[in-house]
Amino acid sequence: MPLFGAVEAGGTKFVCAVGTGPHDLRPVTRFPTTTPEETLARVVAFFREQPEPVAAVGVGSFGPVDPNPASPTYGFVTSTPKPGWRNADVRGPIAAALGVPVGFDTDVNAAALGEYRWGAAAGLDTFVYLTVGTGIGGGGMLAGRLMHGMIHPEMGHMRIPHDRQADPYAGFCPYHGDCLEGLAAGPALERRWGRKAAELPPDHPAWALEAEYLALGLMNLVCTLSPQRIILGGGVMGQAHLFPLVRARVQALLNGYVEAPAILEDIDQYIVPPGLGERAGVLGAIALAEEAARG
Ligand code: ADP
Ligand code: ZN
Repeated sequence: MPLFGAVEAGGTKFVCAVGTGPHDLRPVTRFPTTTPEETLARVVAFFREQPEPVAAVGVGSFGPVDPNPASPTYGFVTSTPKPGWRNADVRGPIAAALGVPVGFDTDVNAAALGEYRWGAAAGLDTFVYLTVGTGIGGGGMLAGRLMHGMIHPEMGHMRIPHDRQADPYAGFCPYHGDCLEGLAAGPALERRWGRKAAELPPDHPAWALEAEYLALGLMNLVCTLSPQRIILGGGVMGQAHLFPLVRARVQALLNGYVEAPAILEDIDQYIVPPGLGERAGVLGAIALAEEAARG
């Protein structure tokens, strides 16, 4: 069985690994995201140091990215506000240095593919993977294909109702202020309540509000994409008590209109954490590599 390389390219840190799947994931290394040159050189060095060469590499990247293989800027990070990374070629330098096929997609599509191969989306063909962390990002599959389109979905930036009387916090999205990400990603919790999200106790009012915003976003996804399951990952979802709150609010907001047993009866199996846990991203990159190797 050929060995594959995985790169989880985050705005804060990069994670690299080699392996073939969940039961065979070898050295994982992490380093901070500095300049593209320095960071990508560390990626290349990591794979060169492995005792066995990789047959292909998969990269799941922070974005926005260009995921279109026919485009001259395929594999670039595009309009990011992250200093130094605007229009940075992430895929090209790795492919050129290693001389192997390099699959590339958004971090959330990579995680979605990992969940499809080995996790909570196995056997499904239409599902969403949403991460709630430093930002909110969403990807997934529609009829068995990873979601792309014009560019790729930007689920975190959908607009949701914001009652400024109940929640005067203006939101932190530099583009939209109070889009879903602006209101409900980790930094919104920290700025609204003045303490780290991880330190807000489960009975703090922050969580009911957080569940409400996430449920509004999920309701929109249910109504637009009709996913067979929604997987919620990311640091904020480390608060396991959020899941029952979000499920209950999604049911209440849909108000019986979407008459699917998945919503009405089995919502515990419908809105779920990643089956691969924190390894979804890196295993998804392995799955991207596997696809790239197939050509
Ligand atoms: P990233 O989005 O950068 O890939 P994460 O998914 O870990 O990384 O998300 C980081 C964000 O999640 C931060 O805003 C942090 O405050 C928040 N976070 C991390 N752990 C927890 C936790 N246990 N509970 C609530 N929020 C958390
Ligand atoms: Zn936004």
